Amino acid sequence: MTKLKFQLHAAGFCVADRAHALRKTRKKQIRFYATYAHIEHPIHGHILFDTGYTRRFHQFTKKFPFNLYAKATPVTIMKEEEAIHVLADKGIKPEDIAYIIVSHFHADHIGGLQDFPTSKFICSKRAYDDVKKRQGISAVRRGFVPKLMPNDFEARVHLLDFNESSKSDAILGDIIDLFDDGSILLCQLDGHAKGMIGAVLDTEVQTFLVADAAWLKENYTKMHLPSPSVRLFFDSWKAYKDNLNKVYQYHKKFPETKIIPSHCEETLREITTTS
Ligand SMILES: [Zn+2]
Repeated sequence: MTKLKFQLHAAGFCVADRAHALRKTRKKQIRFYATYAHIEHPIHGHILFDTGYTRRFHQFTKKFPFNLYAKATPVTIMKEEEAIHVLADKGIKPEDIAYIIVSHFHADHIGGLQDFPTSKFICSKRAYDDVKKRQGISAVRRGFVPKLMPNDFEARVHLLDFNESSKSDAILGDIIDLFDDGSILLCQLDGHAKGMIGAVLDTEVQTFLVADAAWLKENYTKMHLPSPSVRLFFDSWKAYKDNLNKVYQYHKKFPETKIIPSHCEETLREITTTS
């Protein structure tokens, strides 16, 4: 089969401390870019992995308690960076996006879902079940802004149940082969958020989108953990460490695979300058 085409873009960023992402490092304010991947499948067409931010983040975080979220992660997003506008520049209409894989439901990953009125959504059942009924403070605590969700999300979503998966990878565990052709293998990367998923793509050089299982390269190349202070925002610290270790092991076994954490500026620069 023809390989998948793949491009990485950033739709906005928030500013945070590097010492949060890497424990015992010098404090330094850095940009956490909200990247999303645009994938082209020879049969199934255009697919997104997450969407990054849109300006709706500002719109829906003006009032309490969502303003707490906006304060914790100061966001910069410009119209021309939004996925819908970047795709339009490439001649791709919102209706051309057949699928959007949602790694997890934090606002920096689902900000653009409403811009794609006909796409089918793919996410793990556990991730969606964890957020779907949350409102107010309970939602903020999960980094979830309910108003970013399309009204007809449930009618368009395919919820993945990894208990029903028949494939497994020696390092990554249960795998769901999205199109049954080996092109997109979805795996569970719990810890940062419940039910978070990653994707191994059959691109020219294999790509592994790890969402927030690692924030920066050093997390998975050196098994360098984030600061313990971020545990507060994580679903499970133990699961996080286990899954970061899987990414670390995967990198050791397949050093040529391009591993892509959602928010790593260095990775974004490498990918966008070589593709
Ligand atoms: Zn996240």
